[in-house]
Amino acid sequence: MKPTLVLVGRPNVGKSTLFNRLTRTRDALVADIPGLTRDRHYGHGKVGERPFLVVDTGGFEPQAKDGILHEMARQTEQAIAEADVVVFVVDARHGLSAQDKEISAKLRRSGRPTLLALNKAEGLNFAVVSAEFHELGLGEPHPISATHGEGVRALVEDALDLLGEPA
Ligand code: GDP
Ligand code: MG
Repeated sequence: MKPTLVLVGRPNVGKSTLFNRLTRTRDALVADIPGLTRDRHYGHGKVGERPFLVVDTGGFEPQAKDGILHEMARQTEQAIAEADVVVFVVDARHGLSAQDKEISAKLRRSGRPTLLALNKAEGLNFAVVSAEFHELGLGEPHPISATHGEGVRALVEDALDLLGEPA
């Protein structure tokens, strides 16, 4: 069974961009796995010889305008429940938001191993942009750029190491 790495975060932080980067080298098609819900995207990724399943959240069609927030919360919770490890994506350019704090509280309650990915970090001073994210209590943020690819491999290796999976 491949470990499942779930991408969680508020809209527009770069989850889908990261998903595409993680899945495109090996299998650009979104995995079609029977029995899994359709409101999340599943794909196969691989670093070195280590395969993993990656789940993108937030690619749903909202049913009704006033249902969007509730629907997002529900999907995030379901995705967290399926995760072996969570990659919580935040936006280095936007800064820490109230929604980030809500999601991180959920993650801490879930007890799931979680890595904090500080996306859109290309060209930024890491010490400066990462400082405010320490208050989330999820450890040192991993600076990445989903569009440029910087830091992505190290992030995934750290995520898989967290699981103690044999290499
Ligand atoms: P999602 O809503 O979390 O899935 O976010 P998307 O993957 O759709 O990305 C939202 C926006 O952020 C898009 O315009 C992306 O091009 C942009 N974006 C994603 N990753 C990066 C990054 O590493 N650097 C910068 N500068 N922009 C990014
Ligand atoms: Mg998306």
